[in-house]
Amino acid sequence: MSQIKPSFRVKQIYGWLYHHYVLSFDEMKNIPKALKEELAEKFVVNPLSIVNKEESSDGTIKYLLQMQDGKTMEAVWLKMKDKQLDASGKLVQEAKYTICVSTQVGCKVGCTFCLTAKGGFTRDLTAGEIVAQVVTLKRDNDHKHNRKINIVYMGMGEPLDNLSNLAKAIEIFKEEEGLCIGGKRQTVSTSGLSNKIDQLGAMDLGVHIAISLHAVDDKLRTELIPMNKAHNISSIIEAVKRFPIDTRKRVMFEYLVIKNKNDDIASAKKLIKLLSGIKAKVNLIYFNPYPGTHYDRPSKEDMLAFQEYLIKHGLLCTIRDSKGIDISAACGQLKEKMEGEI
Ligand code: SAH
Ligand code: SF4
Repeated sequence: MSQIKPSFRVKQIYGWLYHHYVLSFDEMKNIPKALKEELAEKFVVNPLSIVNKEESSDGTIKYLLQMQDGKTMEAVWLKMKDKQLDASGKLVQEAKYTICVSTQVGCKVGCTFCLTAKGGFTRDLTAGEIVAQVVTLKRDNDHKHNRKINIVYMGMGEPLDNLSNLAKAIEIFKEEEGLCIGGKRQTVSTSGLSNKIDQLGAMDLGVHIAISLHAVDDKLRTELIPMNKAHNISSIIEAVKRFPIDTRKRVMFEYLVIKNKNDDIASAKKLIKLLSGIKAKVNLIYFNPYPGTHYDRPSKEDMLAFQEYLIKHGLLCTIRDSKGIDISAACGQLKEKMEGEI
């Protein structure tokens, strides 16, 4: 964009792309025809098409999106809070939304509980394809440019395994004339590539990180996440301690709870020890089963007991409410269901 002169044109183009969500350069009414043609030769405005959409009763919408080479990936529109009306019916608080985006088609990490891993790795998404997921979902839900939105990099793929495109997308999201989504509103979820956590930290983009920890000892963690052999728990904890975070914020640790694997109080006890000295919060996730998996969903009682133990010992801990549980909610599950149908 920096090559485009005069600079007010850049602002106009950003407006068309990120405020009006246009689908082609043709729609950019106040841009000279010659420039529109030149741009259309070099760039694509809308690289994604919606192949399938599943809407859950709680307002979650899961999208299967197709890229220009025919490959597909998922993005999810999550309603985090309902709108609030006062007694007279006046709107006091708009509904709040988060968009969950993918960073790769498939994934190299190969977690044994994850459906995305089953198909292996196909390719990295470009920064444009990462950004376009947010634009496509905002457009589809008629979400105005000035309404706030959060982004979580928790869709398909390992974001830190596609670090340069991830960083580019983060910067594009942050552009004030564009979508204006600050670093504080973006959370990168990683399976724990400790060297890349350091690299992301050094870029000082102001984003949050979430660590998919899932286990408190290296034996189980390596069973669940094979690359734990190269990036073990202590290397991740050390990298987290070095990561620049807003002092008012906490680092999120995601803990996928699997029946009879890591749902016992002894694990909860070890977790407290492991995270001592870190400003952490823990998000417990119910394992979401799919056909062919040999893991099971934990019981609600065990989940609540695990949470209660952590809270009693001073750790902030939430249970991820299974948004969209009726619509193939976990990572990779919609793609898997649709494969062969498109
Ligand atoms: N690769 C990154 C981000 C994408 S995965 C990471 O692993 O953090 C996003 C989240 O989906 C991870 O926390 C992962 O543990 C979770 N997930 C994967 N398979 C799941 C399943 N079957 N049930 C519930 N959560 C799952
Ligand atoms: Fe990749 Fe994350 Fe799935 Fe593991 S959980 S295979 S890192 S997408």
